Amino acid sequence: MIEKTEAVTLRVVPFSETSHMVTWLTPGYGKLTTVIKGAMRPKSPFLGQYDLFYTCELLFYIRSRGGVHIARECAPILPRKSIRTFWRSSVCASYLCDLLARVSLEHAEQTDVYMLATDTLNFLAQRQPREALVFWFELRLLQAIGLSPRLDSCTVCRTNVPQTETVPFSHQNGGIVCGSCRSRSNTSATILTPDVRATLNAWSRAPSPRIAHNTLCSPQQHFALCELFDIMFDHLGGSNTAHRQVLLDTLSFDLGRSTP
Ligand SMILES: [Zn+2]
Repeated sequence: MIEKTEAVTLRVVPFSETSHMVTWLTPGYGKLTTVIKGAMRPKSPFLGQYDLFYTCELLFYIRSRGGVHIARECAPILPRKSIRTFWRSSVCASYLCDLLARVSLEHAEQTDVYMLATDTLNFLAQRQPREALVFWFELRLLQAIGLSPRLDSCTVCRTNVPQTETVPFSHQNGGIVCGSCRSRSNTSATILTPDVRATLNAWSRAPSPRIAHNTLCSPQQHFALCELFDIMFDHLGGSNTAHRQVLLDTLSFDLGRSTP
């Protein structure tokens, strides 16, 4: 059976001497992997039709028992080639696509994840990111896959915790713990100060990456956000700490005045 879908290219790896294995993110099928037979042959009809960060129209033979599907046709809808001319955008898009490939579900509707991916890649094609965009994306991705961290009320007793309080974020519970429950809790935690909580709350309501572009993190805020999302994605099996650290180190250089 042949299916047609819009798809973002997340990962391209060699498969045999002439073929590629391509991982896509789609709204209706979630994460999808296809073989592109003969992709590297000189006269392949697939040449130039897909690459990392592209949105494509993809026709593929679906395998009913799951596993790897076979691409039949592919055509670019939005190549986003300018990402390759902005080195910050390029390293950032590379990390975000790798993270999406790790945590997106297969055989499941992933419209929210797909919209987040395309909106963020569109932004990276126009602007060079600051480090806050990485944290904003990670928070929005957790929300999109249904694992939104609880930031307003205690994950143990459900009591609302005022925004002005510094609280531990329990990685085991996926949210904050109030002062009363804290003494009885023995789980690993990241300490969230009121300013970090306010930032996370603002980002959780902001669908556009522009808000993160306008956020400058202090070293203390950077440390807390870095640890928070690294451990959360580690629990999901989606963390790639080394890749993420290289990205954050790269983005920590001053943007300067000449960048868009
Ligand atoms: Zn509590």
